[in-house]
Amino acid sequence: MGVRKRLYLGLLSATLLLFGGTIVYIWLTVFQRDGGLLRYFFAAAVIVVLFVLLIVGLGFAGIVLSIVSDRSFKVLDGPINFTVSILYPVVIRLGKLFKIAQDKIQRSFVEVNNQLVKARRGSMNPGRLLVLLPHCLQDRDCTNRITTNEKNCRRCGRCKVGDLLALGERYGVHVRIATGGTLAREAVKQLRPKAIVAVACERDLTSGILDCIPLPVLGVTNERPNGPCHNTTVRPEAVENAILFFLKGGNNYVTP
Ligand code: SF4
Repeated sequence: MGVRKRLYLGLLSATLLLFGGTIVYIWLTVFQRDGGLLRYFFAAAVIVVLFVLLIVGLGFAGIVLSIVSDRSFKVLDGPINFTVSILYPVVIRLGKLFKIAQDKIQRSFVEVNNQLVKARRGSMNPGRLLVLLPHCLQDRDCTNRITTNEKNCRRCGRCKVGDLLALGERYGVHVRIATGGTLAREAVKQLRPKAIVAVACERDLTSGILDCIPLPVLGVTNERPNGPCHNTTVRPEAVENAILFFLKGGNNYVTP
C-alpha cells in the first residue's frame, strides 16, 4: 500500500479510535456513576452510536480489504460509502490538529477512492461514461465559450481542451467542461452517467467524489504550472487510461 494512501487510512483509523474511546469514556464516567433516568438516556445514545460505529467499522474493513486484495466486496459498498462520506470532515479536522496540510489529505483520499473504483470488475457502455473537465484547462486568452457548448472549441492546440474533446469523440463518451460544482451537477443530472472520469485539483476532486457517492468517479489530478485555477493542464494519456479503465479496464469493471 502506497505512502499516500496510508495517510488517509491512518487518519480514518485514528478517527475510529477517537469515537470508540469517547464511547468508553462516557460509559465509564457518566453511565456507570449516574443511577437516575439519565442512565437510560445515555444507554440509548450509546447503543445508537455503537450501531453507527459498527457500520463505520465494516466500511473501514471494506476499504482496507479492497485495497489490499484489489477486489471489491459488493456487500460492503454501502458501509464503505457511508464511512467515506460521514467521516471525511472529521478526518480533515483531525489532520488539521496534527498540522497535516489539507491538500495532502485530499491527494491521499483521491488515491484511496481511485483504488476502490479500480477494484471493481467488468466493463461498461461508452454512452454511460462522462468525462468532466475543469474550465481552468482552457487557455486564458481563448474567448470561445466552451462551458456553454464544448463544440465552440476550435481545437487550435493552445490548450489541452481540443485534445481531450477529440479523445471523447474517439471513444464515444460524453465530455463536459464545468466552471464549478453546480455545472458539474447539472451535467450529471442531465446525462445520468454510470461512471465519471473527473479532471480537477485535489480539492475539487474530493468534493466531486463525495458529491457523487455512490457513483464511481476516477479522479485525474490536473497540473498547475501557473498556479491554481489558471491555465492548468493534464496529460491526455492519463485521461485516456481512466476512460479505458471503465470501457475495458482489463475487462474488469462492473456498473453499480
Ligand atoms: S484548444 Fe484552442 S479553441 Fe479550444 S479551448 Fe483551447 S485555446 Fe480555446
